[in-house]
This record gives sequence, C-alpha cells and structure tokens, in this order.
Amino acid sequence: MSTTITDNTFIDILNFIRSTFNKPQGFIPLHAPYFGGNEKKYVLDTIESTFVSSVGAYVNKFEEMMQDITGAKFAIATTNGTVALHLGLIVVGVKPGDLVITQPLTFAATANAIKHAGADPVFIDVDKDTMGLSPAAVAAWLKENCFTTEAGTFYKTTNQRIGACVPMHTFGFPLRIMDLATICKQYHIPLVEDAAESLGSYVGEQHTGTFGDIGIFSFNGNKTITSGGGGAIVANSEQLGKLAKHLSTTAKMPHAYEFKHDMIGYNYRMPNLNAALACAQLEQLDNMLENKRELAEKYKLFFSGRNKEQFVTEAPGTTANYWLNTIIFNSPQEQQDFLQYSNVNQVMTRPIWQLMNKLPMYQHCVSGLLPNASWLEERVVNIPSSYRP
Ligand SMILES: *Cc1c(COP(=O)(O)O)cnc(C)c1O
Repeated sequence: MSTTITDNTFIDILNFIRSTFNKPQGFIPLHAPYFGGNEKKYVLDTIESTFVSSVGAYVNKFEEMMQDITGAKFAIATTNGTVALHLGLIVVGVKPGDLVITQPLTFAATANAIKHAGADPVFIDVDKDTMGLSPAAVAAWLKENCFTTEAGTFYKTTNQRIGACVPMHTFGFPLRIMDLATICKQYHIPLVEDAAESLGSYVGEQHTGTFGDIGIFSFNGNKTITSGGGGAIVANSEQLGKLAKHLSTTAKMPHAYEFKHDMIGYNYRMPNLNAALACAQLEQLDNMLENKRELAEKYKLFFSGRNKEQFVTEAPGTTANYWLNTIIFNSPQEQQDFLQYSNVNQVMTRPIWQLMNKLPMYQHCVSGLLPNASWLEERVVNIPSSYRP
C-alpha cells in the first residue's frame, strides 16, 4: 500500500466523483440499481395474482416493450443474458465442434456461452477506439486462415466450421457493427450480437443488437436497468424468433392440457416476477439514459482539462448508453495505482476484464494477434456510473 501514489492527480479525481455523487464520505459503488417507478406495484401484482412464474402478463408485456425499444420484430424474455446468448447460438445453427469468432476483451459469459453451445471461441482483436471486435482484424484473420464454400467458412488448420461471430458492445459503446455485418455476410457467418451492456445504444438510428441475425441483452443487477436476473433475445427473422421462443419454453407444443414436446428444449423463460420488475424499469429507460448522459457530460468536461487520463466518449454517428464510464490511463502503473488508491478510499473502480485468452479454460483457444486488447487491458478503468436521483 505504501507504493500507492497519492499525489494531487488522484485526489482531484476522487474529490470530483464525491462531489458529483453528493457524497463527501462513505462508499460509492460502481453501479447501483435505481428503483424510482412502478417496481413495487408491479412485483406485488404478480404475488397477488399468484402468477409469479414463467406464464404471466408481464413477461408478454416485457417482450412487447423490448420490441418497441429495439425495433426488432421479435423479442424473447430469458432468465439471464448468458442463456440468451447460448440459445442465440443454437438457433443460428452453431453445432458442437464449430468455431465461433469473438473478442478476448469481454465478460466471461460471452466465451462461456460459446462453450455451452459445444463450440470453441476464436479470439480476434478489438479496435482501440470502440473497445469492440475489429472488423478489419476479423477480415484479415478470415482471409489468412479460412476457406469459404457454399456450406460456409472453415478454418484451414482443422477444417472446423466458423459457426458464428459474436461481437460485444463494450460498456455500451457501439462497435463498428455495420462493417462487421458486411464481412459476416460475405463469409456466410451468422452474426450474434452480444448487446448485454448496450441497451439504449445506437448506431445512427438503429438500436444495437439488431444488426445481425440475433441480438441478446442482459438485465442483471449491475446493468443499466435490471429485472434482478434476466435477459432477452431479439431477432428480425420470424424463423429464428419463433425457434428461440419455442426452445426457451421447453419446446412444448401448444395444447390445452397435454404434454407434447418436439425438440430438446430449455427452461430459459424469464419468470413473471422478474418481468414485472423489468417492465417498471423499462418504463424509466429514457429518464435513466438521460441521467447517465448528464453524468458522462460532467466527467467529459472534468477529464478534458487533464492530460493524465482520457475519458472515453461515443464515436461519431453512434449513441452510447454510458452504462459504465471509462477512463484510459497513460500507463499500466498509473492504472494499478489508481485502482488501489480509489478502492482503498471507498470509491469503487474496476479494471477492464482480464483477456479471455489468458484464462485457464481458454488458453488453448485459437487467437489472432491482440495488440489493442492487451493495450486496453492494462489501461482501462471504470469509474462510478450509477443513476443520480
Ligand atoms: C452481463 C453480461 C452478460 C451476461 O449476462 P447475465 O444476465 O449476467 O447472464 C453477457 N455478456 C456481457 C458482455 C455482459 O456484460
């Protein structure tokens, strides 16, 4: 601890955060949920009606709201974002033994869901500015390492099929998804967007999660809005949307009283209890996003007057939800020193994730060169980003 730098530069940042959150003392979390609307009313409603489980009006309402918000033709409520991704991969046809292209700089759930589908991740570098999967790096890797036939694209070394590509919009900052969608089309690779962190983030006027075949969202307690635990799959294709819904509800065929199942299904449907919370939260989404944007503007102004850290802002032509505000330090040492200093002083900050290709279970996986992901891993820090009432 004695090595921690406590010079003015860190003190200034912490003072700024404390004044912004109106909290001169005590713990400031990274991201706390905020319940300012109909949460209690709707949750009580499910208990009083006895419809607390996976059948109920709130589940359907939640799906309609998600269709409205994202503009997707189909939205399917799931128990969490990880299973939404698992199911998304299955419905686009990922099979055991396939390879799935993704980024090493992501939350573990992205790579885990690929393994749950029986496939192996291939880690390709991110763009430094978006922190999301780099279309240029994907194109270069495919060109060098794969061949394409009518049946799809295959990895030359092992003849494994590339079953899907899973980019992730890091902290709600949209990646270059249009370029990536073009490349995936060209190579006949299904595109499954991990939009778990990007509810309320757009490229132009189009919501993230709707550029590929499937998009998924998470409503975990730490996300922009929460259902306690929950997720959603969105799709524009009727075939994929209906299949996802069918598989998520144990593949039970509609019948008044008989049990008839025609596929190996999953019990992935969001319970009504959670959907009630989700509906109340979605009603406040615009207000939440506006509030978070105001906070980001304050941070942007503060950090623009400094040269030791760079505050990450949305790329031109995109709208970020500013789920987690992000700063980039000049050096790994400064990142480490600040993480220690801020956390010791009860202002919660976190580094970006350790790269997936370094984790014991993913070390053996195929990787491209990862200079940008490695650079960001050693410099990025998230700072407090909660809704401010
Ligand atoms: C939160 C998150 C998930 C998984 O969501 P859960 O609802 O926690 O299962 C997946 N991918 C990313 C990038 C996430 O941040």
